[in-house]
Amino acid sequence: MIIAIDGPAASGKGTLAKRLAAHYGYRHLDTGAIYRAVAHALISRGADLGDEAAAVAAARGLDPQTLDDPALKSHQVGTAASVVSAYPEVREVLLNFQRQFAADPPGAVLDGRDIGTVICPNADVKIFVVADPEVRARRRTLEAQARGEAADEAAILADILARDERDRSRAVAPLKPAEDAYLLDNSHLDIEGGVRAAIDIIEAVRAGRREV
Ligand code: C5P
Repeated sequence: MIIAIDGPAASGKGTLAKRLAAHYGYRHLDTGAIYRAVAHALISRGADLGDEAAAVAAARGLDPQTLDDPALKSHQVGTAASVVSAYPEVREVLLNFQRQFAADPPGAVLDGRDIGTVICPNADVKIFVVADPEVRARRRTLEAQARGEAADEAAILADILARDERDRSRAVAPLKPAEDAYLLDNSHLDIEGGVRAAIDIIEAVRAGRREV
């Protein structure tokens, strides 16, 4: 089974996807980490984020072993990722890796922006996670503080809104729910509540009870 979890920045989709993978015994791929790794490679070698050819080369050289590098988590790298991810050729280069990951047994949970629409349009269950921008900014601020980073909540909110806009309005693989995705609004749910709501959706789909 392939489970596609999409949604905007800081919507909680990553934690949700990880928990679902653990619950079902599936593998998990945080596809945002792929774009973050490409951005991080450019930043660390001092290349310009506007250098599309350098971004494509970094995407070709992606080492999947580096995807859990904590350096990828920073807000700066996330913002840079939303710039490099708008290059069509970068997305093209990274497509097969994601599809192969999804296809390998026993099953997979992929989270990102375009899993249900582009990477795995035939996913068994698609969930599009949303939360109010203010709630997302609050959560990101607390996470950054927990990592010991200085965090300015108003700046994080402005950045989240700008990133949403960039992800939504790009020409290739824009952020939008697949037509057959279930919307999960976790603005007022804690992590456990979100996991329960997602499992309810997945189980209902599996039992054939839920029509799209
Ligand atoms: O989800 P995360 O914040 O890690 O993603 C960082 C950026 O990578 C996003 O803002 C988005 O521009 C890009 N991304 C994407 N497609 C995905 C996952 C992430 O374009 N499947």
